[in-house]
Amino acid sequence: MTLRRRFTFFTIFWLIFILILFNIFVYLFVIKITMRSEEQLLTNKVNILLEDPRVDNIAGLSDPELLRDYYNVNELIRIVTPDGKTINSQGSDPELIALETTFSSQFETGMLLVEGRRVIYMEVPLYEGHKVIGKIQLYRKLTLLDSYLQVLVIALTVTSAGAILFAILGTYWFTSRLTSPIQHMVQTMREIDRSGKLRKIELNGKDQSAELEQLARAFNQMIEKLDRTFARQRQFVADASHELKTPLTVISSYANMLSRWGRDNDNVRDEAIEAIVKESERLQNLTKSMLVLAEAEQEDWLKLETFDLVQLADETADMLYTTFQRIIRVHTPKTDVKVSADKDKIRQLLVILLDNAIKYSKEPIDITIAITKGNVRLSVSDKGIGIPESDMSHLFERFYRVDGARRRTTGGVGLGLSIAKRIVDLHEGQIDVFSKPNQGTTITVAIPQKK
Ligand code: ATP
Ligand code: MG
Repeated sequence: MTLRRRFTFFTIFWLIFILILFNIFVYLFVIKITMRSEEQLLTNKVNILLEDPRVDNIAGLSDPELLRDYYNVNELIRIVTPDGKTINSQGSDPELIALETTFSSQFETGMLLVEGRRVIYMEVPLYEGHKVIGKIQLYRKLTLLDSYLQVLVIALTVTSAGAILFAILGTYWFTSRLTSPIQHMVQTMREIDRSGKLRKIELNGKDQSAELEQLARAFNQMIEKLDRTFARQRQFVADASHELKTPLTVISSYANMLSRWGRDNDNVRDEAIEAIVKESERLQNLTKSMLVLAEAEQEDWLKLETFDLVQLADETADMLYTTFQRIIRVHTPKTDVKVSADKDKIRQLLVILLDNAIKYSKEPIDITIAITKGNVRLSVSDKGIGIPESDMSHLFERFYRVDGARRRTTGGVGLGLSIAKRIVDLHEGQIDVFSKPNQGTTITVAIPQKK
């Protein structure tokens, strides 16, 4: 069931329920009030009658003149003796006259139904000394009340029906206004599903409730994020296939050369084998880096832990010294610098920066660690070949390398710095490059000490 229908049904049922209760209350209240005043009327009449001296003896009670003054249309007044005989009666309504004469010596009052009409009655015992000599019985048909009630029922039915009708229209109008943004959203989502193209929901400000606007905003944010992710992935696939094409072309052309002339010509064979080995190594590195980058792109979350950055830098420097026999010095004003970050990713970042420094310089390399305003600053400096000014802005692009000549000798694939940038971004930090050709390069990373 749609939200709109549910809402309408609920409102209508609730309204009907309230109206029924209200109508019953009004109906019973009107009856009660009328009955009370009618009863009062009968009491007054009886009280006046009881003051008449004739009611004190049996002879006076049967005086036909006695009841005439008190009689009203729609009424029956009669005096009944203990043996059940009517000795005096005034009234012309046949239905009332037909009422049975029963005798009890108690005062009684109440209401009975005669042929579906309400009749109020009152029975008062009459005494001569201490002896009950008879009873006055008064009956009064409540014709006015009955016609009132008829009108009341009609009026209540009409107003209730009107209220329900207005409520249906009102709720329908209101819910359609309320749910139209939702329908709009659903439509947009369906369109996205059908066309495969991401689209945002248009927000038309004023006639939307805050919750729905929040929903639409959240949806749009999600779409934006997805859009960015898709674009990045598309770009990545394009870049990666382009990069993979070159070594594969080299390998396949050398393999062709080898099959044609390799058997007879030793020089050709050696050259081809060397090239194939080198290019497959490159291919290996490339795929490895691409996997790392793909992982870094996907993982939006960090495994945060608190660790000592100085210790991590020392360990990494030692490890690289053992592998490459290059001196790496760690400078820090403090003995330990605690940071809350993803330790594995920070190690990876350090390796990327040190790997570049090792590849593009020959002198010892310096790591500097410092704390400034809640940020940890980590710099890796070398005195190597440096980076030309014009290349600076592209350094963090995927597969970007400064020039072809360097590339051949160092064998990089151009993914290191883009991975580094991604890691720094994940930590909400900043990475900067300072470099002068033939003097050296310093890459500085600043990340918040506590994330
Ligand atoms: P890999 O993906 O194997 O790291 P790479 O080192 O070529 O390949 P990046 O680390 O992204 O790629 O660096 C991009 C380019 O920036 C390098 O090709 C290099 O020319 C230049 N570069 C980076 N660091 C330095 C440095 N310390 N000194 C000089 N040039 C550098
Ligand atoms: Mg590198």
